[in-house]
Amino acid sequence: MISHGEGFVIRHRSGRYLCSDIRSRGFEGGQPILPLEFCWFLVGNPFAAPFIYKAEPYHRMLATPEWQDVADQFDVVPGPGCAVCGERGGIMWGEEGGYRCDKHKDRNPCAIEGCKRTRAAGNAGLASDQYLCGEHWRKYVPPRSRLRRLYHAHFRRGKREGWTMKRNRQFHRFWDFVVRVARKRHNGGFIDEAEINRIMGWG
Ligand SMILES: [Zn+2]
Ligand SMILES: [Zn+2]
Repeated sequence: MISHGEGFVIRHRSGRYLCSDIRSRGFEGGQPILPLEFCWFLVGNPFAAPFIYKAEPYHRMLATPEWQDVADQFDVVPGPGCAVCGERGGIMWGEEGGYRCDKHKDRNPCAIEGCKRTRAAGNAGLASDQYLCGEHWRKYVPPRSRLRRLYHAHFRRGKREGWTMKRNRQFHRFWDFVVRVARKRHNGGFIDEAEINRIMGWG
């Protein structure tokens, strides 16, 4: 999973992005040509907004007197990109600012930051937290660990008692927890077995 694309863009608190353009007010035949105007506007598509490689010039711009009255309405944010490969462009999906390029429009990335492994999104739909690749699964949910045993226990219960709505909900909650633990471990964090027991609260 790659959380964003290249560079930085400026986002307005409305969720739209800052764009600039140079336009002509037009002129009539025989009349003097008016100077070109510089204008700012907001667009919904972040890929239409100009991006720069370093955030600093945008921060400097927002700190100038010209911008100070409205600067608190804007944030300099990392440029959007495909959640799988980071490429700019493509379609937006979901509500959290996730994107997919054409190549990955039906793929889900491994939930671990920086991992480019994918699998087909399938019926479950697009998401960035529903899949752990083989390597990261073995690494962060190792065989015989408490987490791995709980995972298998969920499946045994599902098989024995049927995949009811309740069971599905429990499994999704458990899976969210698995992903949180894997991401935390990937970032060098430590979650001990006692904490897992406390959070999961059943056995
Ligand atoms: Zn992609
Ligand atoms: Zn992975």
